Amino acid sequence: MDNVYRLDDRTALVTGAAQGIGKAIVLALAKSGANVVINDINKELAEAAAEEARACGAQAAVEIADIVHPEAVKKMVESITNRFTSLDILVNNAGIAKDGYIMRMTDEQWDMVLSVNLKGAFNCIRAVTRKMFKQRSGAIVNISSIIGVMGNIGQVNYAASKAGLLGLTKSAAKEFASRGIRVNAVAPGYIQTAMTEAIPENIQKKYLEGIPLNRYGTTEEVANLVHFLVSDASRYITGQVIHVDGGLIM
Ligand code: NAP
Repeated sequence: MDNVYRLDDRTALVTGAAQGIGKAIVLALAKSGANVVINDINKELAEAAAEEARACGAQAAVEIADIVHPEAVKKMVESITNRFTSLDILVNNAGIAKDGYIMRMTDEQWDMVLSVNLKGAFNCIRAVTRKMFKQRSGAIVNISSIIGVMGNIGQVNYAASKAGLLGLTKSAAKEFASRGIRVNAVAPGYIQTAMTEAIPENIQKKYLEGIPLNRYGTTEEVANLVHFLVSDASRYITGQVIHVDGGLIM
């Protein structure tokens, strides 16, 4: 029987994949048979993540590149397509937060977050299109956030970047559908990572009260959804925003 979840012979590029959600995505795809390319700016952690992926039996490569820079992204994609015959999956996961109230937010805080979270994803999508167009197949997933859907105090830059990713997702989905390329977005809620561990305990308690499943999610639970969206199990799904948030937004 065909297993629509298998990714054998497919190559996946995951940005910001040295740790956290990105690393969990890499491992989920590696376990399903994909070749994985770990992009990040942290070489040491990226190499360690690649070792973990190899231990799952996958071919794994590391590409150190700052996705903010279009030329660096172009070179990274060239390097991947020289090494692997195809480039089938792109997961735009790299993201940062530089929180602050609107009145006090600096231009740098605004520009940095928009550059990494939104322009970085655009740079990567633009760079993979030629290859995916030629193949007439591909699956792209953008990691947004529930904050991009509902907004948040002190996160105007982050929320705008993550909401921007939803427009990017839907536009790319429409533009690429005739070429056999699907584009979807995942909007995680509160996921157990270094990012959420840094939230003060009283605020964490308040957040938990709003989550029907009454706990934070795990990086593996986000990775499971991404795995589904890049596999043939979701071949009739494109342009969608899927929440993985314990029911926080319904
Ligand atoms: P994380 O642990 O901070 O991992 C992100 C990785 O991306 C880091 O290794 C980071 O390197 C790297 N990175 C930063 N800027 C980069 C750039 N310009 N080019 C390439 N790589 C870059 O983050 P996470 O918590 O796993 O989150 C992953 C994604 O999920 C983000 O897009 C985030 O917004 C989204 N998300 C997270 C949560 C959550 O609860 N954690 C919820 C909703 C959505 P450095 O550490 O060296 O900067």
